[in-house]
Amino acid sequence: MMAPLSPSVAAPLVDGFGRAIRYLRISVTDRCDLRCRYCMAEEMTFLPREKLLALEEIAIIAERFMAMGVRKIRLSGGEPLVRRDVIDLVRRLGRHVGGDLDELTMTTNGMRLAQHAEALFDAGVRRVNVSLDSRDPDTFRHITRHGDVTQVLSGIAAAQAVGLTVKVNMVALNGLNDHEIAPMLAWCVDQGLDLTLIETMPMGAIDEDRADRFLPLTAVFDELSAAFALERETTGTGGPARYWRVAGTGTKLGLISPLTANFCDGCNRVRLTTEGKLYGCLGHDDQVDLKAALRDGGLPALDETILAGIASKPRRHDFSVERGAAPAVARHMSVTGG
Ligand code: SAM
Ligand code: SF4
Repeated sequence: MMAPLSPSVAAPLVDGFGRAIRYLRISVTDRCDLRCRYCMAEEMTFLPREKLLALEEIAIIAERFMAMGVRKIRLSGGEPLVRRDVIDLVRRLGRHVGGDLDELTMTTNGMRLAQHAEALFDAGVRRVNVSLDSRDPDTFRHITRHGDVTQVLSGIAAAQAVGLTVKVNMVALNGLNDHEIAPMLAWCVDQGLDLTLIETMPMGAIDEDRADRFLPLTAVFDELSAAFALERETTGTGGPARYWRVAGTGTKLGLISPLTANFCDGCNRVRLTTEGKLYGCLGHDDQVDLKAALRDGGLPALDETILAGIASKPRRHDFSVERGAAPAVARHMSVTGG
């Protein structure tokens, strides 16, 4: 464990609505080896490499956040495991776990997880979220356009074998995987995995109309509670998910339903993009440029800009998925780090 970072502000970060910010999500790359239909267009344009934060800059920014009271960091993307040397960043941040950081986690599509599971565990990661929208090879390939589900399943098994706790993320997609949701929960119970279901959010242009695939989790939940004994977990995580335990098992079911249940009052997180922009909310365009602050003014300017970004964190998102409507924000989830 590293020596504690010296605090850079007198009090921990608190936004304009009194919410303490304890959680930073970082998109380490906007690139991905898949093209999930609800997330990206098939022909995506990615940021030129020179616009990206260097891994060293990501580490510096993350450490300033820790010094200001952030206790949890999640690395996401794009696909974090496609960024070369990302494990070096994980190792650097992992050295703070147990000191300035309670937890370092990753969200991954699982395609390269088998190769990296052990290094993640050795670096201090204990939990990963793995996206798995279908266990059927053809449906999985259709949704992701390129994915091989057997690779993801091997990744999950490898992660569990080295001691990582795995939560499966499944985006609920009308007419694509709705019939697989209850079997997915049963499988997760069997495998000792948690499951979080997610409503599609209107972020970034894709090749389809999201309204066609939008599946409200209210209806899904009714179906699941008829088939499983679900007990509400009341301990909040400051996050968007509401949780239930499948009675008598270790499996937690989470629902992220930004469209049908707003969760913003307890939001404790902010997001750093691949380009070094800090966003207070997935659903708004308000941002501050931490890369410019760090490069032009060093650590004092970085600290000042972080505080300005936190002060302007929006109160809530205004997502809605309506037929023919433009996305709420032009930026894709992969840029902000879902
Ligand atoms: N590539 C990694 C993965 O797929 O897990 C990490 C990044 S991905 C953007 C993070 C999560 O966001 C995934 O669970 C993905 O299914 C979800 N996601 C992507 N676009 C979304 C959208 N428009 N609405 C809801 N969830 C989305
Ligand atoms: Fe890639 Fe994840 Fe987006 Fe799928 S959801 S295209 S895996 S970033």
